[in-house]
Parts: sequence; C-alpha cells; structure tokens
Amino acid sequence: MQKRRLTRQVTLGDARVGFVKLGGGLPRADGTATTPAPVSVQTMTTGFTYDIDKCVAEINRLTAAGADVVRVAVPEKKDTEALKQIIQMVKVPIVADVHFHFQRALESIEAGVHKIRLNPGNIQDRKQVIDVIQACKARNIPIRIGVNEGSIIERKDKQKRLKELGAFFSESKKGYLLAIMITKLEEYLDIFYEQDFYDITISAKSMDAPTVVEAYTEISKRFDHPLHLGVTHAGPKETGCIRSAAALGALLANGIGDTIRISYASDSKYEVEDGLELLYSMGLRERKGAELIACPTCGRIQVDLISLVQDVRKKLEGQITVPIKVAVMGCIVNGPGEAEGADVAVFAGDRRGIIYVQGEKVANVPEADILEKLLSECLAFQDRVIKGEVKLGEKKVEIIPPDPIGEIGSGWEAMAGKMKASPAELTVGRT
Ligand code: SF4
Repeated sequence: MQKRRLTRQVTLGDARVGFVKLGGGLPRADGTATTPAPVSVQTMTTGFTYDIDKCVAEINRLTAAGADVVRVAVPEKKDTEALKQIIQMVKVPIVADVHFHFQRALESIEAGVHKIRLNPGNIQDRKQVIDVIQACKARNIPIRIGVNEGSIIERKDKQKRLKELGAFFSESKKGYLLAIMITKLEEYLDIFYEQDFYDITISAKSMDAPTVVEAYTEISKRFDHPLHLGVTHAGPKETGCIRSAAALGALLANGIGDTIRISYASDSKYEVEDGLELLYSMGLRERKGAELIACPTCGRIQVDLISLVQDVRKKLEGQITVPIKVAVMGCIVNGPGEAEGADVAVFAGDRRGIIYVQGEKVANVPEADILEKLLSECLAFQDRVIKGEVKLGEKKVEIIPPDPIGEIGSGWEAMAGKMKASPAELTVGRT
C-alpha cells in the first residue's frame, strides 16, 4: 500500500448531522495543519426526493448501513422544496445532485444542503455557475465537480489544450478521453479559482475500470483536491462489485482516493456495504462488527459449511459490534493454519464442530448446535472485550488436531490415511 496522497481538506455537514471530512494532509489557507480523514463511503438514493417520507426512510436505511454521506437528485423544484424538510429529518450530510438547472443548486443551498454535486459543463451560462459558487462560498458548502465520461462536453475554444494533452496521452488506449477530462477540469477549476473558491472535490468516473484507474491517476498528479472515486454504471451488484473493486482497489492501494461511491443497479444498501467492506479489507477503515473468515470447502468437508457460513454471517451482523475475527472452517486439516489470528473459530468434521476461543477449545457440539454455540461464544467474547478482560487478536490460534476417535471420528482417520501421516504427527497451525 502506498501512503495516502495529501490533499486540501473539505468538510461537509453541520452540528446536527455531524461533520464529515474528505481528504487532507495539506495545510489550510490560513496555514493550519490538517490530517487526512479516513476514506468515506457515499451512496445515492434511488427514489423520488419529493416523496419526503420515502426519501427520509431510504436515507435512514442507508445511514444505518454505514453511509457517511448520502446524495439525492433534485431535478425539479418540488425536489428542492422537499429537501428543506428532509435535511431536518436525517442524521447524515446530504449532497444535492444538480444537472442543467443552476436554480436547483441555489434552491438546495437555501434548503440547507451540505454539498453540491455540479457538472459546470451542463450549465451553459458561466454567470449562473458563478452564482452557485458564490452562494456556496457564503455558506461554506463544498462542491464536487464531475468530469465523468458520460457528461463531458467538448468546447471549441479548448481545442489547442486538448490537442496538447491528446499528444501527451497518445500511448494510452483512452488517451483522447483522458485529454478531454483534464482539459475540462482545468477549464472548470479556472472558474472556481477566479472566485477564490477551493472547497472542491473532483470525480472522473467511467464505466471502464482501466479508464477509471488511468483518469484518477493522472488527475491525482495534477490537482490537490480530494478525489471522489467511482466506476459509473457498473451494472448490477453481482458483476459491478468486481468492476468497482478492481478499479477502486487499484487506486486506493496507490494512495489515491478520499471518498468512494460504488454504483449498482441494485439496492443502494449494497453500495454502502460493499464500499465499507472494500475499505475494511484494505485496512483503510476500522471495521465495525465481526470479520468473517471461512474456508471455500472442498472434498474433505463433512458438514453443510456453505449454509453454516451464511447463517453465521447473518447472526453476527446484528449482534456483534466489535471487530472480532471469526473463522468457520470445514475441517481440521488446513483450517487451523488458515484461521490463524481468529479470535473465535469453529472447525467442522464428521457432523460436529469444535469451537475455539483465542486458541482454547471451549466446545465440541453436533452440527445442529454449531450456529447457536458459536454465536453464544462470540457474544461472551465480545462482552469480555468490552469489559477490557481480553484484547482482540491477543492470542494466536494454537490448535493441535484433536484425537480422531474422541473428537471428530472416522472422517479424520480417513483424511490422515490419505495424507500418509498419522494424526499424532500432524500438528497443524502451531505457533
Ligand atoms: S479447511 Fe478443510 S474443508 Fe475447508 S477448504 Fe481447507 S481443507 Fe477443505
């Protein structure tokens, strides 16, 4: 992992919903220092904003899923009229997504919105863009400038710069597109800088993962504003998650990106869950709740592990709030080694499960009882963590495969036979 790229810092929110910082590390205009904020997760509502009750319910559901910031579309005046009430009823900073109608931006600002998403290319009159900038400036509201692939418009007066950049990126398959994106950004940023406005974040999304990586990488070298990462129109969750993780993972590993939005043609809750999981997996956010480790299963399996893992995941989701590592392993052959570092682990075999808590065996139960016993051990362990009696990850798993007859029975004998070793010789996962 590369060190996070330093940026100016942008803050959005208010005293009631709380403040979310994006990026950081470079000093403020007054010279005071900033510290890079954790990478945040954003999403967008899918319902009509003017339908106040439904919109608030959706925002609250996304907030409960872990969204740091929620964006709503405001295509019509009835949407910005609803926004005033909505903002008072939610507990998360709200961004107004504005396209074409600068008036919607001004109305959203008036309604108390916390950030504006604007594509200056969609607002033809420069004076109107300046009015929005000035209104945001007066209220300390940041603006995200989007130069997403689908929304950039070429302008004839920028042809010279476009040619220069086009030649610079001539080796790239998407060189022309990169040239347009950067030309547009330079053009838009000039308008903002002329107004002495720097409370800016930038996005440059595409549906093509390599283009996203290349575009943000080039932008990160040229501009010091926080970057809002995303793969746009990534498709349904099933395939979009791979496309998004590939692009955003590559950028984040290179220290690029300050806030992310995963876009699915599915319930936005999945955008939040998967965005958080991406950040947790990369060590960019402190995990809330259990981390589940599970083996993929193989021909050695002797319980219905796939169903068990899903059941464990659902049970832990609502009840475990500290980042306990929980391992659910199909057997004792590779399980202990792979579960090393787990706080609570179950190793299955011959229709039974042996449960360990920080390396100590605490139970050996039939398959039907694994789920409940594992949950009760996780809850008891969580209590001890909260009381300060134990620390997470304190003891490594140190497990000697149990006696085949006394613990998991004939399955183990068969396995040991296949491996041409006696059970006594196999001490797996010892530290
Ligand atoms: S832990 Fe056991 S059952 Fe699971 S994949 Fe590894 S060897 Fe197979």
